[in-house]
Amino acid sequence: MRPRRAGWWLALALVGGCDLDLIELPSRRPSLPTTPSMVPIPAPSPSPSPGPVVPPGTSVHLALGAPMDASPQDELLLVKPQYVVSYNRFRNNPNWVAWRLTASDIGTVGRTQRSFSPDPQLPPGVYRVYHRDYAGGGYDHGHLCPSGQRTATFEDNAATFLTTNIVPQRHAINAGAWASLEQWSVERAREGWDLFIVAGGLWDRACATDLSPAGNVVSEACPTVGRSPDPARRVAIPVATWKVIVMVPHGRGVDAVGPETQVVAVEMPNEAGSGRDWRRYVMTVDALEARTGYDFLTLLSRELQARIEAQPYQGN
Ligand code: MN
Ligand code: MN
Repeated sequence: MRPRRAGWWLALALVGGCDLDLIELPSRRPSLPTTPSMVPIPAPSPSPSPGPVVPPGTSVHLALGAPMDASPQDELLLVKPQYVVSYNRFRNNPNWVAWRLTASDIGTVGRTQRSFSPDPQLPPGVYRVYHRDYAGGGYDHGHLCPSGQRTATFEDNAATFLTTNIVPQRHAINAGAWASLEQWSVERAREGWDLFIVAGGLWDRACATDLSPAGNVVSEACPTVGRSPDPARRVAIPVATWKVIVMVPHGRGVDAVGPETQVVAVEMPNEAGSGRDWRRYVMTVDALEARTGYDFLTLLSRELQARIEAQPYQGN
């Protein structure tokens, strides 16, 4: 799928210093109406030309390119040393999280946290989800960048316990096929592969935040966890979680991606009773692009994307 290049509005919040470095990129989208229950959208300045995409070199975790769709106004980019988040302030969920997994990410640090914390990197005015916002909903705090893939240092592991890195996920999936694909990925890294991974949720149209002109309003029909009377403080439940993994021999970088490169793409329904076999969910990247509306692997040439995105994973 090849979504049109749209203007981007992104807040690029860079860690490393105390200040939140917010960069507003130009967009050709008109200002959208706000509603009383939602955080007002910063008005993008109208621009006749498309804004830039996430600039190449933004993060090693985006070495194959950031996923792109036609609705950047619901994406807030949070760049961290351990991973990169596209955050959806209207669903109180990440749209996606991207990270590189390499053998040196796997160490001896175990799970450093028992609960999840609000992400201090979110700009003022954006609701910060708390661990307890998931309470009683029947859903796990489902990691996207998993704890078990960030065990080299305490800081790396603790960073995975931010609520910008989780979605409400059924335990059967979180502890089943999703977990077995995470473990499989760790084994591939230990074998000498670098894995470029992006994972996210898929939401029902009732939870859409990319519609215009009523855009950004998550409808009452959107299923959520959380007990707040304020819908802007509830967490939308995805109907599925998905993941794309590209494997490159360690240290060779993305230039090593070629027509024979192995790519795993899966979409797992967010429901009970699936078992641990992730291979039953394998699909092509092209099919996942159609499902999510994202273009993946955007920094690879169109020819290379066309080739490797059409092949379902057939390895072990
Ligand atoms: Mn998990
Ligand atoms: Mn693509």
